Amino acid sequence: MISGVETAAQQEFLTRLGCDSLQGFLLGRPMSAEQLIETLSHENALNDATRVNALEVRCGVCQSNSSYRERPHMTKLPIADRWFELKRISDDITLLWEPHVVPLMRCNIWHVRGRDRDLMIDTGMGIVSLQEAARHLLQKDVTAVATHTHSDHIGGHHEFEHTLVHELEAENLRSPREPGTLLASVLGDEAIRRYREAGYPFDGDLITALPSADYSMSDYRVRAATVTEIVKEGNIVDLGNRHFEVLHLPGHSPGSIGLWEAASGTLFSGDAIYDGPLLDEIGGADIPTYVRTMKRLRELPVQVVHAGHDGSFGRERLVELVDAYLAKRT
Ligand SMILES: [Zn+2]
Ligand SMILES: [Zn+2]
Repeated sequence: MISGVETAAQQEFLTRLGCDSLQGFLLGRPMSAEQLIETLSHENALNDATRVNALEVRCGVCQSNSSYRERPHMTKLPIADRWFELKRISDDITLLWEPHVVPLMRCNIWHVRGRDRDLMIDTGMGIVSLQEAARHLLQKDVTAVATHTHSDHIGGHHEFEHTLVHELEAENLRSPREPGTLLASVLGDEAIRRYREAGYPFDGDLITALPSADYSMSDYRVRAATVTEIVKEGNIVDLGNRHFEVLHLPGHSPGSIGLWEAASGTLFSGDAIYDGPLLDEIGGADIPTYVRTMKRLRELPVQVVHAGHDGSFGRERLVELVDAYLAKRT
């Protein structure tokens, strides 16, 4: 008999137990779904386990427990009032982000208004429609730029008719290799350990609220997008009144790009550089290449960097971040 299921950990656990491919870990001990259910039927064991917050579920085997899902008290994460936050940075630049996504996956989405067309630089996770959230900003043609094709940056690209990506990652935008996930259990221990070591601790899933009561985290997928513009180093992205040069900035990923407007000293840097823990040991990353990119960035006469994560910064901070990276990796 399971009753008094109230803590977030319990609710989360039981929600996931409803999935058809889960295995549990109780107080660090792996056990089958059957054993888990048995243990959990002893209320005290459940309370003990959740009190020390030691209840986890991971991918594995499970069949017979979907009845747990039906219980109304098992409903899960809070429901978000709204999914995107917006902040106007200047007359023609607006920052959008997803506050209920954990910092590791919470990318900056930059809307840049141009005379002839607009840019949407990265599109977030794709959990909720960005087109709809940004409708008031989207009054003319817009190009959805992929600074690179990690799932936290391209989730909403499928909503846009016109997309732009570096030649080395075009295929991944057209047909994402990784399906993406919101579940820590699918991400796996090894990946979570690496992210923790890199400076992104998290102990739950990748979102901290649901966009709606009927949203199913396990149904999340990165969707394929239409690719309409493939770019490389030196290409110009022309908005009529603003001109951005494509800088190829590999290291974090092979086809990472920055958009550089020399006239204003503005750089949209994607994940090549941001004011937070940089990731250079993930799949597709390469440290010697990243070192070269950093040396290049150090020479750029920037006024402001609008990055793929975290806050914007000026040249002084850019140099500090570059030097800290170089000190660590060279
Ligand atoms: Zn990335
Ligand atoms: Zn990112």
